[in-house]
Amino acid sequence: MAFELIPLPYDSEALAPAISAETLSYHHGKHHKAYLDKTNAAIEGTDLADASLEDVIAAARGSNQGLFNNAAQSWNHGFYWHSLAADKSAPSGDLAGLVDAAFGSLGEFEAKFAERGVGHFASGWVWLAEKDGVLSIEETHDGDTLADSGFNPLLTIDVWEHAYYLDHQNLRPAYMKAVIAEHLNWDFAAENLARGSAWTYPG
Ligand code: MN
Repeated sequence: MAFELIPLPYDSEALAPAISAETLSYHHGKHHKAYLDKTNAAIEGTDLADASLEDVIAAARGSNQGLFNNAAQSWNHGFYWHSLAADKSAPSGDLAGLVDAAFGSLGEFEAKFAERGVGHFASGWVWLAEKDGVLSIEETHDGDTLADSGFNPLLTIDVWEHAYYLDHQNLRPAYMKAVIAEHLNWDFAAENLARGSAWTYPG
């Protein structure tokens, strides 16, 4: 089963100016697609050919770094597209209570999330995650993922330069601030929390 490039869940103009249509055309249409193509090529004809993407990630972790990088990046980008939304939202209900319990307030979470993303050295991902009913901010380096980590990832932001360079050049703080202020998909976070286990890549 070949993994497919999932469509963006919004118009390509919907996240501008935080993330432009031009950035999405490369990031989704070129970068994400390349990770999927390389994953598909690597598993074709092997005993992972019909596995889920999550199972490919788990099988490759620690044993096949090339496949792991491409499979994990395929998953991370699918999760990232859904972590963003055209319209501003906010946590409510159980999720709002957990945000307050872990961080003090939504505003304090937003500031800490930006700080961790800005401070992350080089390429990687910053995540809001849940484990045993407690929320935390986690970071993974390069292509590493929370897909098979024991955490339930709720949201992520890609902090690789390709995610923001066309729009913000080297100014990762401007990208983080703009995304966090306007485009975090708290409805997606609530769905992930309610499910109680990690999101799975469609297909
Ligand atoms: Mn990326």
